Amino acid sequence: MVDVAKRIVLLGAPGSGKGTQAALLAEALEILAISTGEMLRAAVAAGSELGEQVESILNSGDLVDDATMADVVSERLARADAQRGFVLDGYPRTVAQFDTLAAMLGEAGYSLDAVVQVEVPETELVRRALARQRADDTKEVIMKRLRIYEENTAPLVDLYRERGLLRTIDGDQSIGAVAAAIQASLEEAA
Ligand code: AMP
Repeated sequence: MVDVAKRIVLLGAPGSGKGTQAALLAEALEILAISTGEMLRAAVAAGSELGEQVESILNSGDLVDDATMADVVSERLARADAQRGFVLDGYPRTVAQFDTLAAMLGEAGYSLDAVVQVEVPETELVRRALARQRADDTKEVIMKRLRIYEENTAPLVDLYRERGLLRTIDGDQSIGAVAAAIQASLEEAA
């Protein structure tokens, strides 16, 4: 693949497939995929201090507080394997988290290269989330997550657009077609 953006955020509602796409994109670009949801679930599974702190929040579908997330992400981005670039999945989820990320990258002399929004109709999001049925995926929690996404994370879209970072992809296609569209959108911008 030609030289493309290396510090990328994947944005999408719960069930949009952004986790799958983040992993595929990171593999294609030979950079790291960082999923904050996976990191938090791993912390819960490991019974770490962080895990104990966030377990009930994860189960309820609420967001973990911005300060805790800043610690989690800054620690991860500081590691050697993140220096070549990364695809962030699940962060930032609030405007405050975006400001934190921009500051973290700025301190290291970097900036965000691109934001890819994976768009999927809500009926399809609910269908997929129910089909996935993780322990924390009850219908009530799924609907709550979608509402929280609309309230907290959707406003980031305007901010990304204003900064010229946003590419929007139709996520209601096969995994391979979405992956190809994401890569094409990044090449166009490179
Ligand atoms: P995800 O797998 O990205 O849907 O994340 C699962 C859960 O982890 C979310 O419902 C939140 O409780 C928590 N979480 C993950 N990333 C963040 C974040 N950036 N800010 C706050 N909470 C988060």
